[in-house]
Amino acid sequence: MMVRRMLRLFSVGIIVFFLFSTSLYASINISYPKQVYQGDCFWLEIKYSSEVNGILLKYNNKTMVVPLNKQKKSRVILGVSAKEKKDRSFWIYYQEKGKFFKEKYKIKILKKRFSKQYLKLPKKFVYFSKKDLKRIKKEKYIVNRILNTVTPYSFLREIQLPVRSKVLSLFGVKRILNGEERNYHRGVDFRAPLNTPIRAFARGKVVLAKSLFFGGNTLILDHGLGIYSLYMHLNQFRTSLGKVVEKGEVIGLAGSSGRATGPHLHFGLFVLGEAVNPLSLF
Ligand SMILES: [Zn+2]
Repeated sequence: MMVRRMLRLFSVGIIVFFLFSTSLYASINISYPKQVYQGDCFWLEIKYSSEVNGILLKYNNKTMVVPLNKQKKSRVILGVSAKEKKDRSFWIYYQEKGKFFKEKYKIKILKKRFSKQYLKLPKKFVYFSKKDLKRIKKEKYIVNRILNTVTPYSFLREIQLPVRSKVLSLFGVKRILNGEERNYHRGVDFRAPLNTPIRAFARGKVVLAKSLFFGGNTLILDHGLGIYSLYMHLNQFRTSLGKVVEKGEVIGLAGSSGRATGPHLHFGLFVLGEAVNPLSLF
């Protein structure tokens, strides 16, 4: 009798455990590519039950509050730097009925071969004077501080390329300038004759509209949740600091300001402080 009673208690325990664990996992559902190439970015979709009232995502030492909506389905973009060799993880923390849950997800990194590009540039842009070095350092600091800030806006619903034209130089190519190996290409170069209208990648806030040593007239848009798009070598700005622009809105005209061999658009995309290949989203 005693044994039967214990067995019954045990099976009730198992049923309770399964009920609890299924409700735990049914309340949140994450979809994303489990394998990602170096330098690529991707959409991550989070579906949740109506009982979930708060979600945090932690990735690459940064934390974002995932905006919740009526559809119970939120999307964010994550990415991997071109130099990443180790697999990555992200954590989802969520609150449901006053309880907190934490789940870990893994991303496998696949190696990618990046080609080499040989360029010949004026000496000024390869060997820097003390004055230029000082300027470069200062601008790098300003830009990095922007790109590493995670704002709570959620502007990224629809996206588009800033120009529809031929790609001249891909993301990640190793650059050899006047025979010397330099940093890899942290964006995509598009063919864009002088004064070609350049359009916003998505809805975003202008957080930089400034003439930089390398980038020339440079715009940076903040799309929220750690996503920034960057537009370089513009001839003219068609927007200004602090403005919120819509997806597809003309924000500048193409040119060859800064370190450029001719008019083109350098388009960059940054996810939580890392340069990623914008074409991997299209
Ligand atoms: Zn470029």
